[in-house]
Amino acid sequence: MVKTSRDNPLHKQQKKRKKTDECDEDKEAEPPSKKRRIDDGNNNNYISPPPMMNMPASPRTMCDNRDICQYDKGCYRKNMDHFKEYQHPNKESNESNVIRAKTKTKVEEINKRRQALERAAGINKEKQLKKAKEEFDVECENVQKQYQKIMDKAQNEFDEKLIPIKQSEQFELEKIEKKYHPH
Ligand SMILES: [Zn+2]
Repeated sequence: MVKTSRDNPLHKQQKKRKKTDECDEDKEAEPPSKKRRIDDGNNNNYISPPPMMNMPASPRTMCDNRDICQYDKGCYRKNMDHFKEYQHPNKESNESNVIRAKTKTKVEEINKRRQALERAAGINKEKQLKKAKEEFDVECENVQKQYQKIMDKAQNEFDEKLIPIKQSEQFELEKIEKKYHPH
């Protein structure tokens, strides 16, 4: 059972001192990541917060001067005045945990969808890359063929033009030979 401040007058004194001195500091000292943690469902070691019963009183509870309702988790009161008057730490924590669990389920669902899209994106990428590579290979082959065709043409043209030039050279050389070595 959680002790109420009525059971322990010393505790009450401590609480009063705390309220004036440390409570605001405690609040500010709390790392923001603790409050605003966003679980995206990828985090495998995500652990739902345990029920408040097993936890030390939160700074909020310790700063709270209200007595704890004797029924707490089992309290069926609806009247808001009752909630103004009494704390219900376990009931509050249960309701928060229900919300956290629902949120976790929703996050897991959207995460499944994200993972499915990511898988599809990966498969599509591989397919497109394979296709692009095949097209690239074909294009490379075409470029090489074109290159070779022009190279052959250059050589053939040269060879064709070389023949009359060489024949002409031979003819002129023979003329010179005849001129300087007449029979
Ligand atoms: Zn109550």
